[in-house]
Amino acid sequence: MSDATAKKEQRRKFQAIRGTRDLLPPETALWNRVEQTAHEVFATFGYGEIRSPIFEPTELFARAVGSDTDIVSKEMYTFESSEVPNLVELRTYYLSSDYAEDVFHGGSEDTVDLLSFATNVVGAFKKGALPQTSENLALVDDFLKKVSQIDATQRADVLKPFREVLHNFVRSVHLGDPTALRPEATASVCRAYLEHGMQSLPQPVKLYYIGPMFRRERPQKGRYRQFYQIGAEVLGGTDAPAIDAEVIEMLMTYFDKVGLHGATLYINSIGHNAENCRRGYVEKLKSELAKIKDNLGPDSQRRIDTNPLRVLDSKLESEQPYIEKLPRIADHLCDECKAHYAAVKRQLELRGLLYQENWRLVRGLDYYMRTTFEITAPGLGSQNAVCGGGRYDGLVELLGGPPTKGIGFAIGEDRLILSLQEGGKGAVEQGRDVYIAWMGEHAYAAAIRAAKDLRNAGFSVELPPVEQKFGKALGQADKLGAKYALILGDNEVAEGLWTLKTLLTGEQQKFPEPDLLEFLCQQKKVSS
Ligand code: ATP
Ligand code: MG
Repeated sequence: MSDATAKKEQRRKFQAIRGTRDLLPPETALWNRVEQTAHEVFATFGYGEIRSPIFEPTELFARAVGSDTDIVSKEMYTFESSEVPNLVELRTYYLSSDYAEDVFHGGSEDTVDLLSFATNVVGAFKKGALPQTSENLALVDDFLKKVSQIDATQRADVLKPFREVLHNFVRSVHLGDPTALRPEATASVCRAYLEHGMQSLPQPVKLYYIGPMFRRERPQKGRYRQFYQIGAEVLGGTDAPAIDAEVIEMLMTYFDKVGLHGATLYINSIGHNAENCRRGYVEKLKSELAKIKDNLGPDSQRRIDTNPLRVLDSKLESEQPYIEKLPRIADHLCDECKAHYAAVKRQLELRGLLYQENWRLVRGLDYYMRTTFEITAPGLGSQNAVCGGGRYDGLVELLGGPPTKGIGFAIGEDRLILSLQEGGKGAVEQGRDVYIAWMGEHAYAAAIRAAKDLRNAGFSVELPPVEQKFGKALGQADKLGAKYALILGDNEVAEGLWTLKTLLTGEQQKFPEPDLLEFLCQQKKVSS
């Protein structure tokens, strides 16, 4: 690297990675309120919080979410999690184009490096520090067979023909377990349910979570690569329609408490995966889709085979007239699923919940069944879904557990916040209650005492660390949006009478020290 480039690198300004962002005050106060309300409301419905890791085996998501979904096939952040430090990084270096150039054109020493790296890898595999897969075993065996032909005495020269063997080995061997940043949390909750034997608890088990999810999507308003979800799952027990309705009731109660107005609840039933129900419908849908194939875009064309239900999800304008004419699942539900859906609607009505039916609301994955729902909110443009959910009675079994009922939802917290802000519910009170303007040594001791007492009583207090002229201090108090300035000079302290200035009105009052706290507490009560 030249000096100039090195300097430039050093001066480089770091920025948050594309699709991620910092949440800052005062907005974080709104995030806290939104999360606090979730803790409170969900607790009243008997849910307990689960905090699961943000990374899990890639396979968990591939299995649970489905490997032909966009989330798994395109959007996951994955890495090899190796037990051996630096192994993955070293491999990246050895396979980098810089290094490869050297290897193929340059000196044989590089090949010696590569051989010693490969030998380390083999050693690590033999010690059990690399995944003991049959693939790795075959690679190691093959490598050892080929390398045993090398004459160690003339190593450097003789090595040249082995470069390709070395490269292939280093490229193909699994140095660690495939691991992914979680793109959603339902899979993790089901994993935890099984791992901790929660089947033996009273059923159903009701859990909720709050935390970041990661998907490599094209960033835009309401769509980020690190985003936050607030979700809940009900696992085990029965699939009584009242459970579906209560989950939705909890959601709508939550949205109401948090101040989200204009949310619309859409519901649908996608039946279950049997011949006389969804499977029959999907066959019918496929054959109808085949007829209109030429009128569909490339994404939908592909989905005719891989995931035909997802075509119904399409937002592409030109496809809409064709999709509207496709057969509808409601006409194909089996009697049991029909009855379940009718009962869910009745249960929603019993709870006074308004809903709209949307036959195109699908979740396109095999294990989803029966109830699906989505909630949209105003002010979000085309990313207007703030919550998606549904019943997934097959999922726990898919992850190796016993047949288990399940239903849940995930709220997009970022979008919820955006919608609250757009609806004018985003403003959070800022500033300080009291700014302490002090001058003089005695005053400072009193100021420290006052700050401590006020903070203990729950007031937010700014105590400047160095002495300032009163004029400057009051200016500072204004800038911070303080309600009151407590003016403490050595005179005030000597007199035992402290001056409190209400910054909005400019009014000043004098109080003996003990009365001041009482006065402020009184004022707080009045204003709240
Ligand atoms: P969309 O159709 O908007 O991509 P989705 O079907 O991928 O949503 P789900 O997997 O059902 O979304 O996740 C539930 C909720 O999480 C969504 O309704 C949305 O509010 C939120 N969400 C999903 N992806 C993102 C993202 N990349 N950024 C912000 N919020 C998201
Ligand atoms: Mg998505």
